Amino acid sequence: MSFESLGLRAELMSAIAAQGYTTPTPIQAEAIPVIFAGGDLLAGAQTGTGKTAAFALPIVQMLGENVPPDKRRRPRALVLVPTRELAAQVSEHMNNYARRLSLRSTMIYGGVAIQAQIERLHRGVDIVVATPGRLLDHAERGTINLSRIKFLVLDEADRMLDLGFIDDIHKVAEYLPAKRQTLLFSATYSQSIKQLADELLNHPRQIEVARRNITADAVTQALYEVEKSRKREMLSFLIRKGGWNQVLVFARTRYGADKLTEELLYDGIKAAAIHSNKSQSIRTRTLAEFKRGELRVLVATDVAARGLDIERLPHVVNYDLPQVPEDYVHRIGRTGRAGEMGVALSLVSAEEQPLLLAIEKLLKYSIPHQTLAEFPQYAVKRTVRTKEAKLDKEPSKAQKALKKAAQAPTKRTPREKVVAERPAPKLGRRRSRAGK
Ligand code: AMP
Repeated sequence: MSFESLGLRAELMSAIAAQGYTTPTPIQAEAIPVIFAGGDLLAGAQTGTGKTAAFALPIVQMLGENVPPDKRRRPRALVLVPTRELAAQVSEHMNNYARRLSLRSTMIYGGVAIQAQIERLHRGVDIVVATPGRLLDHAERGTINLSRIKFLVLDEADRMLDLGFIDDIHKVAEYLPAKRQTLLFSATYSQSIKQLADELLNHPRQIEVARRNITADAVTQALYEVEKSRKREMLSFLIRKGGWNQVLVFARTRYGADKLTEELLYDGIKAAAIHSNKSQSIRTRTLAEFKRGELRVLVATDVAARGLDIERLPHVVNYDLPQVPEDYVHRIGRTGRAGEMGVALSLVSAEEQPLLLAIEKLLKYSIPHQTLAEFPQYAVKRTVRTKEAKLDKEPSKAQKALKKAAQAPTKRTPREKVVAERPAPKLGRRRSRAGK
């Protein structure tokens, strides 16, 4: 299958060539003909499969057949996405194609002033890429006219549901004409996705492309078993030892992401965190710095990382395993994209074993374990800095001394006495209770 055989216009063919795409990805090869034929589509495809171009190219081509005068432009395509980051990424693709056919695309999302968006909509646009909440806000204020929408795309629909956008999506749908073409993309098919598809789609063609991150060779997966308190040291060690220059690290919480970032910076590794507590301008700037290679590590939470499009990202690290097994698939989908090799590593503590089992059950694959011969010595050398490190399971010299002091309370040297006066009684009490 070639792009030529998909019937794309010369302007779009040159956009594709400029992006460096030579052959359509499976989702593009399957979805583009369905969309050109006018049917609804229910597509099982993750980020990283090329799904954006799969819907953007045919939509732009069909809208380009009729370009109204500026004043009469109303949005004819609406793409709903879960996050601002994904909105930015989809918009970039849309703009790139749309401008070649004299179409206008704009981006609508919350967390920023609404006025500039109102003005842009007022000037006339053909394509709107939006997060559901802010879009609904515009619809309710009457600052967007959705009555001419021909194409509705729900991108990463599963994530929109995870983020609680279901009611907003239903409300937005009420503003749309019944006669339209609807395309729903989702990485997973839950009961709620099926229900949403039943409500919004009309006899859709269903296509599913291979879960490439699970089956494809493009991502090498591995895990290290490591104590929770040593994860940060191991991460620093892996980054340095491997000479990794662009690593996306997933942390479970915003607090955890900030803390890890601080520690990496302390270790001399240029890092920044991206999560929903950061303002949009900081998130955009951080992502741009990471893309330009000015940051070595980007620490992200699942929500913020959703939809991040970073070309040729070589390393993804699960610093914490995700609570939801499907998120593992989304996370490692940030690497090994579009023909590039990638490595996805997970640092797994004993407490995370149940999460690991759930992930492996979903993948139907046992993630290979790796060990680092050099790491134990390295870790022991560095255990004294943080509070966590002090709680390290492996007894440090100081802990051994405390134990000795507790066991032999008589005839202390002055130094042992000082040590024994503080934490040692705890050990002593525990021991004596255990002995009763
Ligand atoms: P997406 O799943 O749309 O986020 O795309 C994933 C990545 O693949 C993006 O970096 C795209 O630029 C890239 N991509 C999309 N289509 C192709 C293609 N046909 N050939 C090579 N790369 C592609």
